[in-house]
Amino acid sequence: MRKYVIMGVQGSGKGTQGALLAGGLDLVHIAVGDMLRWHVQNHTKLGAQVRRTMSTGELVDDDLVESVVRERLAQHDWNYGFVIDGFPRNRRQAEFFCESYDIDGVIHLDLPDTEVRRRVLARRLCARCGMDYNLIAHRPRVADRCDVCGGALVSREDDTELALAARLRDYYAKTDPVLELFRVKEYVVTVDARPDKVTVQRAIRAGLGLPAGADPELGG
Ligand code: AMP
Repeated sequence: MRKYVIMGVQGSGKGTQGALLAGGLDLVHIAVGDMLRWHVQNHTKLGAQVRRTMSTGELVDDDLVESVVRERLAQHDWNYGFVIDGFPRNRRQAEFFCESYDIDGVIHLDLPDTEVRRRVLARRLCARCGMDYNLIAHRPRVADRCDVCGGALVSREDDTELALAARLRDYYAKTDPVLELFRVKEYVVTVDARPDKVTVQRAIRAGLGLPAGADPELGG
């Protein structure tokens, strides 16, 4: 059983790397931002509660996020463990998390702010199936259309200059100290998030002492 946390500024590739790591090790990938976005897209009661906050780039209420995480982990579909990204994001969430789960490692994806801006403003999402694109590194075959389902590609509501500034502020004020907390416990593996995704995944696995995998992209 392995339990990993992925941390890093927005656009550092938490979702991509979390999915690759989970796929290779048969772990469940839990992306808290994706879960919240699902609620917004599907107009649930919770979605209505978080929509405005999310669109401004601010963090949503701790009680609410904690209950989403608690319920998700209570499903116990993670026989071999999980990779959680987007949580914890502040000291209180970290305390809640550490009280309930022992962590095997924290992956810190390190990316300079200039690169964050470049990546985030180029990020696109399929409005229909949720597939991720990036106009720099992963362009769709047909402009503004999803390769998989043909849906329209849109920007995330919080991928604007203003929301990005709020998220970076929150990250350095609230999330960075959590990293320090984990660092004291010697959990943290810091990886340069600038190279291509396979290189980054290899560095993560090496840092965690895991086998490299024949082809991490395919989960091998
Ligand atoms: P992400 O997809 O991880 O960038 O998250 C998108 C947005 O969801 C964030 O900007 C927050 O508004 C909200 N969110 C995600 N995770 C958390 C969390 N752990 N605590 C509070 N808000 C969160």
